Amino acid sequence: MNARDIRGTRRVATVAAVDNSLYAAAPKIYPQSVHGTFRRIKWALLVVTLGIYYFLPFLRFDRGPNEPDQAVLVDLAHRRFYFFFIEIWPQEVYYFTGLLILAALILFLMNAVAGRVWCGYLCPQTVWTDLFRAVERLIEGDRRERIHNDALPLTAERLARKALKHFVWLMIAWWTGGAWVLYFADAPTLVRELATFQAPAIAYISIGILTFTTYALAGHMREQVCIYMCPWPRIQAALTDENALNVTYRYDRGEPRTSLKKAEVLRATGGRAGDCVDCGQCAAVCPMGVDIRRGAGLDCIQCGLCIDACDTVMNKIGRPPRLIAYDTDVNIKRRLAGLGNVYRLLRTRTVLYTVLIAVIGAIMLTSLATRNNLGVAVMHDRNPLYLQLADGSIRNAYMVRILNHTTATSSYVLKVKPFTPANVTAIGTGKSKDGWPKVEIGPDQTYELRVLVTLPASASSVASRDITFQIINKTSSQIATARDHFLTR
Ligand code: SF4
Ligand code: SF4
Repeated sequence: MNARDIRGTRRVATVAAVDNSLYAAAPKIYPQSVHGTFRRIKWALLVVTLGIYYFLPFLRFDRGPNEPDQAVLVDLAHRRFYFFFIEIWPQEVYYFTGLLILAALILFLMNAVAGRVWCGYLCPQTVWTDLFRAVERLIEGDRRERIHNDALPLTAERLARKALKHFVWLMIAWWTGGAWVLYFADAPTLVRELATFQAPAIAYISIGILTFTTYALAGHMREQVCIYMCPWPRIQAALTDENALNVTYRYDRGEPRTSLKKAEVLRATGGRAGDCVDCGQCAAVCPMGVDIRRGAGLDCIQCGLCIDACDTVMNKIGRPPRLIAYDTDVNIKRRLAGLGNVYRLLRTRTVLYTVLIAVIGAIMLTSLATRNNLGVAVMHDRNPLYLQLADGSIRNAYMVRILNHTTATSSYVLKVKPFTPANVTAIGTGKSKDGWPKVEIGPDQTYELRVLVTLPASASSVASRDITFQIINKTSSQIATARDHFLTR
C-alpha cells in the first residue's frame, strides 16, 4: 500500500467513524432582528412579565395589624402563603393542586385557540432567552456580523465584546436569582441584609443556583430547552386540532415559489407564480432555526416573528401581507377547494375548558371567601368507648383539637350540646363565666384538650345520642363545630 492509498484508507476510516457516531452537535442559530406587530407584542409582554417578576416583591398590601404587608409572600417561617387578599395555610395544600389544575386548563384553552401562544410569548424560557439575545445583538451585532465574526480567529476586541456580553448576562441572571428569594421574606429587609452580608446562607445559595440556571438556560441552551427538555411540545401536539390558529405558511398562496424577477415574467406571460420569493427571511429571523415553509413541527414555538419578516418582504415587493399568518388547517383546505375562511372559536373543547376553568375557579374562590380561621376536630376514646363509674354514672372521653389560624392569641370557650357545663370537664383548663371550659391559644397554634362528658346514673338508661362540640372565639365570635356520639351501652 503506497502513501496515497494509506491516506485514502485513513480518510475512509475517518468518514466511517463520523457516520457511525450517534452524536451531532446542534447548529448554532443566529436569529436576525426583525420589526413588526408580533415583535412589538413580544417586547411589550417581555417588559410587563419581567417587570412583574422583578418588582412584585416590593409591592405592599395592608392586611391589618400583626400581618405582613408584602403583597406576594411565601412566609416559610410562619407557614403561610400570601397573595394580596388571599392567605393559604399549610394544611390547605389542595389550593395549590387546584391552582395547578387551573394553570393546566388555561394552557389547554390557549392551545385550543392559538396553538403554542404560551411558548411563543409568555414562557419564562422564551422571555429570558429573548432578553439575552437582545443583549447579544446589542454588543456583538446582528446575524450577519456575528456569523462573519465567529468564522474569524478571535481578536482582542471581539474577546472584550464577548466578555462584556457574558458579564451582562451574568448580571441579569444574578438579578433574576436575587428577585426570586425576595418572595420568601420581607423584600426591603432582605435586600438590606443581602447587601450587608447578613442574610441567611440559604438566600445566597439560592441566588447562586438561580444565577447559574438562568445563565445556562437563557444564555447557552436556549432553543435546546424547548426542543429536548420541555414536555409541552409533545403534549401540545396531541391536544391541538385542525381549527386551532397556528403560525402557518399559506402554501396555497406562496407556491410555486420563485424569485421576484421570474415571478414577474411568469405573471406577465399568463403563468402562475406563488407569492413566496424564496428570500429566506422567515428562516433567518426564527429563534428556533425553523423554516416555516417546511411545516411548523415540534421546534416552532409559534412566536410569529416569521410573520413580521415575511410581511416586511411582501410590503417591499408590493404583494399583500400575511403570506405567513395565524391560520388553521381547515382554512387552507377550504381555500384550496375555493371556499372562504371560517374561524370556529366555539368548539366542544374550548367550551369545555372554559366551563371547567370557571367552575374550578368559582369553587376555589367561594371556599377561600367562606373559610373559617378557627378549626376543631374531635376523636372519641375507643378503648373503652364508655365507662360506668361506681355511682352508676356513664362517662365518655374525647380528644378535642382546636386550631387557631389567626396571627393573634385568642380566647376560646368549649360548649358540648345538648349537655350542661356540669356534665363537662376539660383537663387542665379554666372556666368561663357560665361554667364552660375556656382556653387561650397562641397565634397559628393547635391546642389539644382532653374532655370528659359524664351523665348521672338517672340518665344512663337513655339511649346513645349525637352530641356537638362547639368552639367559640370570644374576640371575634367565630364558631367552629364538630359532631360525635355519646355512648351509654
Ligand atoms: S419570508 Fe416570505 S417570501 Fe421570504 S422565503 Fe419566507 S415565506 Fe417566502
Ligand atoms: S417558525 Fe416562525 S413562529 Fe415558529 S418559531 Fe420560527 S419564527 Fe417563531
